[in-house]
Amino acid sequence: MIRPQREGPLTRELVRQPGGFGLGQVPSRLKPDETVSMVCGFCSTGCSLDVHLRNGVPVNLTPTRGYPVNLGMACPKGWESLRPLAADDRATTPLWRDARGRLQPVSWPTAINVFVEKMRSVLDTHGPESAAFLSTGQIPTEEMALLGALTKFGMGMLHGDGNTRQCMATSVVAYKQAFGFDAPPYSYADFESSDVIVLWGSNLCIAHPIMWERVCMNPHRPEIIVVDPRTTETAVAATQHYGLQPKSDLVLLYGLARLLIERGAVDRGFVEGHTSGFDEFVAHVGAYDLDMVSDATGLTHEQLERFASTIATGQRVSFWWTMGVNQSHQAVRTAQAIINLALMTGNIGRPGTGANSITGQCNAMGSRLFSNTTNLMGGHDFADPIHRAKVADVLDIDEERIPPRPSDAYDQILDHILEGRIKALWIIATNSAHSWINQHHVREALSRLELLVVQDMYATTETAQLAHLVLPAAGWGEKEGTFINSERRIGTVKRVAKAPGHALSDFAIFRLIAEAWGCGEMFKRWSTPEDVFTILQELSSGQPCDISGIDGYRALDAQGGIQWPVPAGTAVIDTERRLFEDGRFFHPDGRARFVFDQPRPPLERPGGQYPLVLLTGRASSAQWHTGTRTGKSALLRSLSPTKPYVEISPGDATKRDIEPNDRVVVRSARGSMRARAFVTANVAEGQVFIPMHFEETNRLSDSSFDPHSRQPSYKYCAVEVSKPEPADR
Ligand code: SF4
Repeated sequence: MIRPQREGPLTRELVRQPGGFGLGQVPSRLKPDETVSMVCGFCSTGCSLDVHLRNGVPVNLTPTRGYPVNLGMACPKGWESLRPLAADDRATTPLWRDARGRLQPVSWPTAINVFVEKMRSVLDTHGPESAAFLSTGQIPTEEMALLGALTKFGMGMLHGDGNTRQCMATSVVAYKQAFGFDAPPYSYADFESSDVIVLWGSNLCIAHPIMWERVCMNPHRPEIIVVDPRTTETAVAATQHYGLQPKSDLVLLYGLARLLIERGAVDRGFVEGHTSGFDEFVAHVGAYDLDMVSDATGLTHEQLERFASTIATGQRVSFWWTMGVNQSHQAVRTAQAIINLALMTGNIGRPGTGANSITGQCNAMGSRLFSNTTNLMGGHDFADPIHRAKVADVLDIDEERIPPRPSDAYDQILDHILEGRIKALWIIATNSAHSWINQHHVREALSRLELLVVQDMYATTETAQLAHLVLPAAGWGEKEGTFINSERRIGTVKRVAKAPGHALSDFAIFRLIAEAWGCGEMFKRWSTPEDVFTILQELSSGQPCDISGIDGYRALDAQGGIQWPVPAGTAVIDTERRLFEDGRFFHPDGRARFVFDQPRPPLERPGGQYPLVLLTGRASSAQWHTGTRTGKSALLRSLSPTKPYVEISPGDATKRDIEPNDRVVVRSARGSMRARAFVTANVAEGQVFIPMHFEETNRLSDSSFDPHSRQPSYKYCAVEVSKPEPADR
């Protein structure tokens, strides 16, 4: 039975009064015809956009001139940022699935009452591991922090992860083990000062187009090296492209390390002064001779020699990686093998250098540091007694409320649902039923839940359609907070538009639940996003990600964003800063670690009835992930493929009697999808490529994960492509 919730003072403030969070008019402190600068809400580049108001309503936007990230540029997604807010299918009222299985509108008090009653029932009956949340890298840091504190310290949950598991978990683990902290060391200015730029598993032109523009602004005529099995848009523009066999990266990296050692290209002074484990690493890579590496990668001896020579002779070599590395079955060791190359050649801590992970989502870095999932908030350790005491003291909570260990990972949460151990799940601003690897598995898990709550801007996502309860949320531009971009730069987002109907900011929803749960007192200091920013500053104090020296949102706006760290008392905050300029890393001995391992094969190999390797990735800079927002823009739809297609090599097409644009079926051991054949030499024989944005793509992918980061291996599974059989028509 659904009982209307008794309305407390906070409920009335947030739900009833115009001007409360997420409701009412645009804040009166904005002038009706003001231009407001704020960080874009799509990718991790963190461009600044100027939103122009007329009569208090946002009517247009332009990229911010002079902002140190985008320098007055924006990609198509940024230009169309306002469009998804006005979509017809915005969730405008809470929805509860009735006895006949239909989602029906209910009031906020009723929705909050249902949430609390059912979630509490599960937790009280089955314990702290029986309910979990899955969050996102798309909401401001302050909202993530409130969610993490509410669920773990207030409601008593143990498990909660984010969709950042799909993009950045590998880099987190790689950096922690190598540097002693999750610390991307670079500034975007490094794109412009390198003389050799190595892009590993990164289609920068498409995935991070403004970063690619920064590469193009490099005045040093750099060598641009792309390592990718596919001839991507970036590979075409590069000066060197190494189209290696899929997932032979680790062998190639160890082979390059051996060649660099043989050529005397090691920076002995840096290695001896600032690293540990190099001698063992030298012994390890001794087995990776030219013949062996050539066999594994498909690259010739000449290609391998040229690649190593370019690194050896570069004065300022920067290494950049993204999903081609992170979404792999041995992703962490591959990322660390890239880090090893930077360390051994002394290419770190100087302009134009670095072992640089490019993040995916607009606030993945905020999630990594403050979401209270894998780290205790502020980059702390759940198991460290000193860290626990510090966090308890700052938050004024009993230390016993802090769980003794981090959450299990996204895939493990899904497994626990299938095992019957997790019975309630709260999904915030992510579309798991589309985006998670092996769609059958995730949909089966979601169908087994006693309670599935989805909190989103749209009730039409594949995941929201499966929910028992939908909570309508405000989006980017309808709420306040901060994002942290790939280069550690913190910037603000602002409320320039009113959320439609009864939609509320995620911040307001979390506060309503805290009040209804009975733990509102714990969050009495968490009244506004900027209040939370102050708390996060206190939590970060003394950590590598220390931001205690930032003078609030005002300073972030005045300085064009600020890169962490900024300890209290920092006198001058330069616009562009990189880490490790003094050669000191975050391990207790101040040294970086060489980390390495034996390569191992992917879980599933092509052969038999599935002889082709399926690669996935981005198809257009006009698409964002599952298209939940970008699909709402007619302009963005016109700039991107909207019908499924599969890239297949001319040789493989001929063998299967497939002509360009033929209808085909792509099958894996998990399922199948229909597509059009795009016959192209951009993919090598034996490989096919399908964009990740199509809902069908993850019917094919395999539940395979890196063992250290538990990041899904989206970029490799076995498939076959054929013309439709009579049964398929
Ligand atoms: Fe937004 Fe990323 Fe495009 Fe910049 S590159 S405008 S941050 S989506």
